[in-house]
Amino acid sequence: MRAVLFEDIGSIRVGDYPDPSVVDAKDAVVKVTTAAICGSDLHLLHGRIPGMRADSPIGHEFVGTVTAVGDEVTRFKPGDRVVGSFLIACGQCWYCAREEYSNCDQLWILGYGMFTGDLDGAQAQLVRVPIADLNLHAVDDSLTDEQAVFAGDILTTGVYICERAGIRPGDTIAIVGAGPVGLFTLMNARAYEPAQIFMVDVATDRLKLAEQLGATPLDSNKVNPVVEIQRATGERGADVVIECVGLAPAFTTALDAVRAGGTVAVIGVHSDLTYDFPIGEVWRRGVTIVMGATCNVQAYWDRALELVKNGTVDPTILISHTMPLEEAVEGYRLFESHEALKVILKP
Ligand SMILES: [Zn+2]
Ligand SMILES: [Zn+2]
Repeated sequence: MRAVLFEDIGSIRVGDYPDPSVVDAKDAVVKVTTAAICGSDLHLLHGRIPGMRADSPIGHEFVGTVTAVGDEVTRFKPGDRVVGSFLIACGQCWYCAREEYSNCDQLWILGYGMFTGDLDGAQAQLVRVPIADLNLHAVDDSLTDEQAVFAGDILTTGVYICERAGIRPGDTIAIVGAGPVGLFTLMNARAYEPAQIFMVDVATDRLKLAEQLGATPLDSNKVNPVVEIQRATGERGADVVIECVGLAPAFTTALDAVRAGGTVAVIGVHSDLTYDFPIGEVWRRGVTIVMGATCNVQAYWDRALELVKNGTVDPTILISHTMPLEEAVEGYRLFESHEALKVILKP
C-alpha cells in the first residue's frame, strides 16, 4: 500500500509499506478513504515527541471502510463505514471501566511511535486498529467523510473541553488560540448559549474565521485582550477562559482574563516542566483551573457526531485544502507554514 512515512526528524515522504492485517482477535483493518494532518503530527516531525520508527506510517485522523475484523470484534463487520480515534484505549483497565479512556493504563496512539504502542498510522491506504469495538465509531450515510473525520480527535476535543470547563448559559467566554482546536472549541461553546465569546490570537485570517463563527476577535498584536475583556464585563473578566495554545504566555493571559470565581480550562498541549505560578493571587480570586490533558475521545464522540448531525457544528469550515495522499509532503508544508488551516488527504 501507499502511506505517508516518517523518515526522520523534519522529513516525511510518500512510499510503499506492507499492507496491515488482523494480528489480534480484537483488531480491524480499515481501508482509509479520508485522512487529515494534525498539529500533533508536526510534534513528531519537529522531534518534540521521540520514538517514531524510521519509515513507518504517520497519522491518526481518518475515516474509512472496514475490510477485515478479528474473531472477537462484535460491533463492526467488513463494509462498515467508520471513524477512528487517535487514542487507542484498552477497554479493560481501571480507568477504561470508569470511561476515563484518556487515562488508560495503555495509552496507545496511532502512528505516534514506540512509546505509544508502536502502531502504524492512518495517512495510508489501510490501517490496523486494535480493540476495534472501542476505538472505532460507526459513521452513518447521512454524514460525509469530511463531516466525520475530526470526531476521532480535534472536534471531540472541543466538545470535551467545553464540558470540562463547565460553561453555563449567559457566560462570557474567552478562547485563547484560534487554531483548529480553538475554532472547534468556539463552535461547541456556542451550543451553551453564552452571552459572548472572545477569541484571542494574532493570525488575522483565523480571527476572521472566528468572527464569522460568532466570536468577537481580539488581535493581541493590536490590543491588550485582558483589558478588552475586562472592559466588556464591568471590569470583572470572563466567566470561563479556555486556553488552546499550550505555551506559558497563553496560560498567563488566561489567568489574567478570568474573573474571580471563574474557570480557566487548558486544552493546549503544554510541554514545559514548570511554570512560575502566581498561587497567592489565583487563590485569593478563587479561580478554578481545569487541566484538560488528552481528550477523552471515546466518552465524547457520540455527542460530537450528534452536534454535526443536528447542524450545531460544521467541521468542513476548517478544511482549507484537500489533496491526494501522494501530495502529502506539500500538504505538510502548507500546514506547517500556517498557509493551510486543515489539510485533508485522499489515499
Ligand atoms: Zn491529533
Ligand atoms: Zn484502559
